[in-house]
Amino acid sequence: MIIELIEGATEEQRDEVAKLVKGLGYKPTYVQTQRGEYFVAIGKADFDIRVVGHHPHVRDVYRVSDAYKLVSRKWKAKPTRISLGDGVEVREGGLSLMAGPCSIESEEQVRAIVGHLSQCGVQIMRGGAFKPRTSPYAFRGLGLDGLKMWHQVAKEHNIKIVTEVMEISQIEPMYEYVDMYQVGARNTQNYSLLHELGNVDKPVLIKRGISGTLDELLQSAEYIFANGNEKLLLCERGVRTYESSYRNMLDINAIPTLKEKSHLPVIIDPSHGIGVRQHVKSVALAGVIAGADGVIFETHPEPERAFSDAQQTLNFDESKSLVERARAVFELRKSFDLPAES
Ligand code: PEP
Ligand code: MN
Repeated sequence: MIIELIEGATEEQRDEVAKLVKGLGYKPTYVQTQRGEYFVAIGKADFDIRVVGHHPHVRDVYRVSDAYKLVSRKWKAKPTRISLGDGVEVREGGLSLMAGPCSIESEEQVRAIVGHLSQCGVQIMRGGAFKPRTSPYAFRGLGLDGLKMWHQVAKEHNIKIVTEVMEISQIEPMYEYVDMYQVGARNTQNYSLLHELGNVDKPVLIKRGISGTLDELLQSAEYIFANGNEKLLLCERGVRTYESSYRNMLDINAIPTLKEKSHLPVIIDPSHGIGVRQHVKSVALAGVIAGADGVIFETHPEPERAFSDAQQTLNFDESKSLVERARAVFELRKSFDLPAES
C-alpha cells in the first residue's frame, strides 16, 4: 500500500498516520522525495481502504501488491517528466536522444562529439569517465579529471552529461559535473550504491542487469525511489543468453512491459543491446516503434580507433542517420494507435 500524505504534513500528523497503519497490521516506511511524502506499507491483513483514505492528513491511498511499489504504474497515472535543466527533459511519450562515446578519451574527441551532437540537435551526451571493464588490463577511463574536462566543453555548448557512477565514493565528487548518473548493468544490484543515489537530487538512469529480470530492475529502481530520489529512468540494454552471434539479446518486449508496469520513462540502448555496428540503427528504430521514450547509443569520430566498444560504435554519418530516422519513426508512432502516447 502507498499512502500519499498531504502537502506539508507535520511530524505529529505523520506519526498519527503511521499509528493508524500499524494498527491495521501493516509496517509503514516513511519516504520523502523531491516531489512528495509517502508511507509505503507492507502487510497482508484485509481492511477497508477508506479507513486510511479518509484520514485528514492523507491525500490518497493506493493498494499496490507488487514487490516494487513507488515505481509502479498502479498508483501514478500521470506521465513522469524528468528535467535536466535549461528546458531539456526526458518524459514518457517523448523521444530523448543521448549519444556519445563508450569512453571519454581526450579533449579533442570530446570537442568533436559535442560539435556533432549540437549539429544534430542532440542535447544529452553519454560517455564513460569511470569504466567498468571485464578485463583489468583494458582502458578504465580518464576518471574525474576526464569528467571535469568533458563538463567544461559540454557546458560551452549547453549539452547535458549522463555518465556511469561505479561506486558510492564517486557520487559526491562527480555531482557538480554530471546532469544524470548512470548505473551500469554490472551494478544494477549493488544495493548500497542504489540506496546512496536516493540521497541525490539528480536523475539516475538504471540499466537492466546482465541477466536481470524486469521485476529485478524495477526493484532496483525502487531502492533509489524509496530513499528519496524519484528522478529515475529505466534502460533496456539486453541480457546475456545462449546466443553468441551478437553481444546481448536486446529485449524489445521489455519496452511495452516496463511501460505497463511502471510510470518511469524507458530508454533503449541498442549499442550494448546488439553490439554490432551495422545493426544498431535498425534495432534502435524497433525500440522507438515499440514505445521507448528515448535512445542511448555510442558514437565516435573514428569508431575503429575507439578505446572501448569500437565494434558497436557508429561514425558521425551513421549517428546522424540514426537520429534523423529515429525522429521520423517517432512521428510515425505518434500517428499509430499505440498505448505509449501522452
Ligand atoms: C556503457 O554504457 O558504456 C556500459 C558499460 O553499459 P552497460 O552497463 O549496459 O554494459
Ligand atoms: Mn560501451
